[in-house]
Amino acid sequence: MRHVYLDYSATTPVKEEVAQEMIPYLTEKFGNPSSLYGPGLEVKEGLNQARKQVADLIGAQEREIFFTSCGTEADNWVIEGVADAFKDKGNHIITTKIEHHAILHTCQYLEKHGVEVTYLDVDEEGFVSPADLEAAIKDNTILVSIMMVNNEVGTIQPIKELAAIAKAHGILFHTDTVQALGNIPIDVNDLGVDFISMSAHKIYGPKGIGALYKRAGINIPSFVHGGAQEKKKRAGTENTSGIVGFGKAAELAMKSLPEHAAHSDKLRRMLWDKISSSIDGVTLNGPKDFTKRHPGNLNVSFDFVEGESILLLLDACGISVSTGSACSSESLDTSHVLNAMGVPVVKANGAVRFTVGDFTTEEDIDYVVENLKTIITRLRELSPVNGMEGWE
Ligand SMILES: *Cc1c(COP(=O)(O)O)cnc(C)c1O
Repeated sequence: MRHVYLDYSATTPVKEEVAQEMIPYLTEKFGNPSSLYGPGLEVKEGLNQARKQVADLIGAQEREIFFTSCGTEADNWVIEGVADAFKDKGNHIITTKIEHHAILHTCQYLEKHGVEVTYLDVDEEGFVSPADLEAAIKDNTILVSIMMVNNEVGTIQPIKELAAIAKAHGILFHTDTVQALGNIPIDVNDLGVDFISMSAHKIYGPKGIGALYKRAGINIPSFVHGGAQEKKKRAGTENTSGIVGFGKAAELAMKSLPEHAAHSDKLRRMLWDKISSSIDGVTLNGPKDFTKRHPGNLNVSFDFVEGESILLLLDACGISVSTGSACSSESLDTSHVLNAMGVPVVKANGAVRFTVGDFTTEEDIDYVVENLKTIITRLRELSPVNGMEGWE
């Protein structure tokens, strides 16, 4: 059976060049980078190179990159770290209703410990309003955290403008760039941000490795306590193969960003053109202007059917997609993102996220649309609410 993977926002395959770079660190280059003898120092050099590769991708200095176990850890660290380090200045954090759970659940945890959190609304396309941010700032605000690109609907936030508002009030600004990295250019100085979270497995690198960019001069406590790794900020013997894999993936992402984005955008538009011209009752969720969303993201609601049923029938044809976010695939709650955008519950239930990437082909798109047409027709025939007036 043909296999078509259209879930690049959940994770990407590891590129061959990345795997090749990693293999020596799983075999002969096994030294501990904290050791002072040759084999340890050789591994340390590999880590230094990876740190430079990741720093270059975002226009940062090497000393501003701290490797973590994943994007989630970077998100947890910065939110908890700022809340702790700046508690004398204030206890108010501003974020949005559409953040990844790595941010939302950390904020909810802190709320139980006396931190006050404002969750900004978004408009029907998922955009945060700079005026809303301005209005939410208070004397005790210490951090603003707004994701650069949403993982479900792909909305690209005006981070530079939002960060400038925080800066004008002397407030630190964090952005989760896990979905943006490698897909849209990021320059931490041009954006004027203080912290960003990154993850390797969304840019054709390995799983279980991420990083936090922390602007030089800003101090937050370490999140994992123990040894002196990562300039005493993140203890634990380094995931050496993961780090060099992340470095290689960052180098490749930097070289190929324009081609990668153009390829994804072309196939994503083709997928939408074919779906919207051959299937009735479909709605595009997220920005209608494709230049304002992740280049590989398409999120579509199909009237009268459940996204979950579509996912399972597509899976039976060898096609992998997602409904809402992968992290909520085990819960039946509708997506908090679509909900915040005001998408009616029945439409949100019928939402499917298709995300394309470097290995997606035009033939894949044709195969998906052909199967989708059959699946939607079949599900609508079975649906008790199919064609019902006022089903919404
Ligand atoms: C995937 C993702 C994360 C989590 O990254 P992990 O490395 O999987 O922990 C955080 N934020 C966003 C926006 C993501 O898409």
